[in-house]
Amino acid sequence: MCEFCLKHGEGEKWYLQAKNYSDDLLSDVRRRRFIHRFLSNTDRLKSKVARLDKLDDAPRFVRKIMGRLVTARMKRLHYGQVLPIEDVERVFEMVGAIVRVVCLCRHVTLGQEKRYCYGITLKPDGGELGEIARGLDNSYLAGPDTPDAEKLSKAEAIAAMREHEKEGLCHTVWTFGTPFIAGICNCDRADCLAMRCTVTHTMPVMFRAEYVGEINHDACTGCRQCMRVCQFGAITYSAANKKASIDPRRCYGCGICRSVCPASAIHLEDRASVPLAAKLW
Ligand code: SF4
Ligand code: SF4
Repeated sequence: MCEFCLKHGEGEKWYLQAKNYSDDLLSDVRRRRFIHRFLSNTDRLKSKVARLDKLDDAPRFVRKIMGRLVTARMKRLHYGQVLPIEDVERVFEMVGAIVRVVCLCRHVTLGQEKRYCYGITLKPDGGELGEIARGLDNSYLAGPDTPDAEKLSKAEAIAAMREHEKEGLCHTVWTFGTPFIAGICNCDRADCLAMRCTVTHTMPVMFRAEYVGEINHDACTGCRQCMRVCQFGAITYSAANKKASIDPRRCYGCGICRSVCPASAIHLEDRASVPLAAKLW
C-alpha cells in the first residue's frame, strides 16, 4: 500500500474511496482557488517546465533538496498515481459524471490540443467542480477541436481509455488539494510534465501503481512488442533465451505492456507480494 492508501484510504486503495471525490472536500475555499488557478494559468506551467530543465545542470545536492521540497508540496496539492485499466474502470463505475478535456501538459509542451484528460466527480451534473469549470476563461479548454468539455457515458469513457492504451499511454489518477480527486490522465514520458518530473528528473510527483508486471516465460514468444510501449524502460530481452523479462525495481505497474502482448504472457501482481518492488513507490 502506498502512503496515500494509509493516510486517505483506510488501508484500501485511496482512489477507490468515494469520500475522496466528494463535494464536501471541494467546498473548502482554498482547494477551489487552487483548482481555479491550476486550470487558468498555462504561462505559469510553461515557466515551470523551463525551470525544471535548467535544474538538471544544478549540483546534485541542490537537485536533491529541490526534489524533496517539490515532492512534499505536490503531495499536499496535486499528486498522482499510476493505475491499470481495471482500476480506471472501478473509478468510472463509482463516479456520476465524466468529462473529457484538452490536456494541459500537451497544450504547454507541444502546443497541441490532445484530449487525454478526464474530469470526474460524484455528482451527475458535475457538482461544485462543474461550477468551477464553467467559471474558467481558458482558451485551451475551448480550442477548435473541442468546442466544450465533452460529457461521456461510462462506456464511452472506458472505450476511450482502451484506445489511449493502444497508443501506449499510461493511466494516472490525480488529486487537486489532496485527498480530493478530480481527474484521470493518460501520460507519456515525452510530453507529460508529471512523468518527466518523476522519471526523467527523479523528482517524484506521482506514485507507482499498486501492482507490478510479470511475464510468464512459458508463454512469451520473444516478439518484443512489450518493450516498445514500456515508458519506464523496465523490460529487457534475452537474445539467448528469446524471452522478455520485467525488472520489478523499474516497473510502474501500468499494465500497458500487457495490453499489447499477443501471447497474453503478461499479468499484474500486487506490488506488496513482490519483495523487490514492495517498498518502491
Ligand atoms: S509482448 Fe508478450 S510475447 Fe512478446 S516479448 Fe513481450 S511478453 Fe513476450
Ligand atoms: S513493464 Fe509493463 S507494467 Fe511495468 S511499467 Fe513497463 S509497461 Fe508498465
